[in-house]
Amino acid sequence: MVARIVLSLSALFLVAFPAFAGPPWRGKSLTIPLEAAGASRALPRVEGPEGRPLVVIDPGHGGHDPGAISPFGGVREKNLTLAVAQRVRTALLASGRVRVALTRNDDIFLALRERTAIARNLKAALFLSIHADSADGTATGASIYTLSDIASDQEAQALAARENKADILNGVNLSGEETEVTSILVDLAQRETMAASLDFARLLRREGAGRIPFHAGGLRMAGLAVLKSPDMPAVLLELGYLSNATDSQRIRSSAGQNEIAAIVRRAVEIYLARKAVAR
Ligand SMILES: [Zn+2]
Repeated sequence: MVARIVLSLSALFLVAFPAFAGPPWRGKSLTIPLEAAGASRALPRVEGPEGRPLVVIDPGHGGHDPGAISPFGGVREKNLTLAVAQRVRTALLASGRVRVALTRNDDIFLALRERTAIARNLKAALFLSIHADSADGTATGASIYTLSDIASDQEAQALAARENKADILNGVNLSGEETEVTSILVDLAQRETMAASLDFARLLRREGAGRIPFHAGGLRMAGLAVLKSPDMPAVLLELGYLSNATDSQRIRSSAGQNEIAAIVRRAVEIYLARKAVAR
């Protein structure tokens, strides 16, 4: 697959290359083909008992993409998502019922589609991406996102725009793939996957009730690039708002992280048990 670097003709660029300042270049972008980022990267280690369904946990952001930065102590989203993902892995492995892999186990950058590609190459039964949000004002609580081409609310739409930016940060603009993604979304085959994703999201919400605070009812929808897989149930968990002192403290604390891990473990166990019965 061929990706491209898209250079917007920013002010800085035009200072460096004044020849591009006039028409027909004004407001245009340059597109340079390149190899897909990290296409040859080795797949991550899979842990857990042979033959069990695989859950892939995806710690959001990493490397030069810090994600949201908390105004309370400057904690970076990329570090919190990794810490929580590692605790979730420990909890899931303790259950003995699943295999687990993390898309990243270090502070490295992965493009959004590399994350889903890893999970699909490993034939994951379930994909869970972990993030923490940031907002102006007093927003608090966790949100559980499933894929939709129409966002559940304006804030969810803004969140998708922010989270989808991770690829643009890496100089890889995936907007050219939208047509493909859109056709996937309307495909009937996608419906089963979306129903399964929603099933898992509802279980997370149910198991989290009374244990962690939720924002806007907890279940939300948005066009998040990392959830766009036609054949793999995928959910994105926003742990809470780093812009909120209470949320920030909860997400940073061992107790808060263990609580999340326990909730995910319970939801995964029930989700997979239901799948087994339905089969
Ligand atoms: Zn994020």
